[in-house]
Amino acid sequence: MKKILVTGGAGFLGSHLCERLLAAGHDLLCVDNFFTGTKTNIAHLMNNPRFELMRHDITFPLYVEVDEIYNLACPASPIHYQFDPVQTTKTSVHGAINMLGLAKRVKAKILQASTSEVYGDPEVHPQTENYWGRVNPVGPRSCYDEGKRCAETLFFDYWRQHHLRIKVVRIFNTYGPRMLPHDGRVVSNFVMQALTGEDITIYGEGNQTRSFCYVDDLIEAMIRVMATPDDFTGPINIGNPTEFTIRQLAEEVISLTGSKSRLIFKPLPVDDPKQRQPDISLAKKTIDWSPSVELKSGLEKTISYFRAQLQSGAIAQ
Ligand code: NAD
Ligand code: UDP
Ligand code: UDP
Repeated sequence: MKKILVTGGAGFLGSHLCERLLAAGHDLLCVDNFFTGTKTNIAHLMNNPRFELMRHDITFPLYVEVDEIYNLACPASPIHYQFDPVQTTKTSVHGAINMLGLAKRVKAKILQASTSEVYGDPEVHPQTENYWGRVNPVGPRSCYDEGKRCAETLFFDYWRQHHLRIKVVRIFNTYGPRMLPHDGRVVSNFVMQALTGEDITIYGEGNQTRSFCYVDDLIEAMIRVMATPDDFTGPINIGNPTEFTIRQLAEEVISLTGSKSRLIFKPLPVDDPKQRQPDISLAKKTIDWSPSVELKSGLEKTISYFRAQLQSGAIAQ
């Protein structure tokens, strides 16, 4: 049994990770400032004596004793990370410094939830880990993209300078139950719109592509990366390499929900990447992992979750 800290543990991915690590018998400390996370996401874990919840903002120092740290704290959807962009950069950069300082003091192993956004709007397709990316440093997405890039730099400098055991995971678009209904991300938007009969908002022509990974697949990969030998640092891409256009996603959601929603077209946001697909050869080789949940079955589970939330009144329409 290990004592594990999950920052951002009350969020979408964090809550699934806490659940899995608890089930594996570990002692969990979940730290969150509840900016985009909720107590509801972890309510079912609260009675477990091995689970502890702490309200804390990681831009401030944290003194605890743990064996491993998964650093997930950071708003991930554009409307949330652009709401207070300075705080987003602080969370990525000051947050990383604090968590790395903590890892250094207690000699903990530390994993960073990085992102495919470090590749920006890529000229290399699919993206491999040795591609340096094409990121606008002064645009509305920069607080997130550059914050995450700087966090990676800090991880590698603590590794070079202080010999920390680090793991950097570059997460590609992931979806599933406990996404926030109004977070503006494409899967939650389309599912909510389809279930409530609203128009489905396609940005641009809908020809841009993304590859969608179901949350269970992603969590499995993160845990495997944490368990790799100490000389493996990453960065390592984790995501589903099956690429879909946004229009195809909309059509799949309509078909699975039986919705009568219409497709409407809205302007493409600034710096919206045209295509994105992970090259996961490294993950296949290093952690013997590739995603097993197909888009259709992952969407079905996600749709059931949002439908239940709507029916119970947990989501206001
Ligand atoms: P989320 O917004 O649901 O979770 C982030 C959590 O961090 C929330 O619970 C939020 O309250 C908390 N948080 C934010 N700032 C904090 C701070 N300063 N101190 C403490 N807690 C703070 O998002 P998610 O999708 O679960 O993403 C989790 C991590 O994975 C993020 O770091 C994100 O950048 C990364 N990621 C996610 C995706 C994806 O597709 N979901 C893709 C790439 C990377
Ligand atoms: N830190 C923390 N918890 C710890 C140890 C450090 O939050 O258990 C923070 C502390 O605020 C510090 C930062 O991590 O500023 C970086 O720590 P490090 O030891 O690398 O640098 P220094 O203390 O010299 O600034
Ligand atoms: N998108 C869309 N309609 C929406 C929300 C998003 O067409 O209602 C598009 C968006 O422009 C982008 C893609 O879907 O091209 C994925 O958007 P998301 O915000 O989920 O993730 P990211 O852009 O960070 O990959």
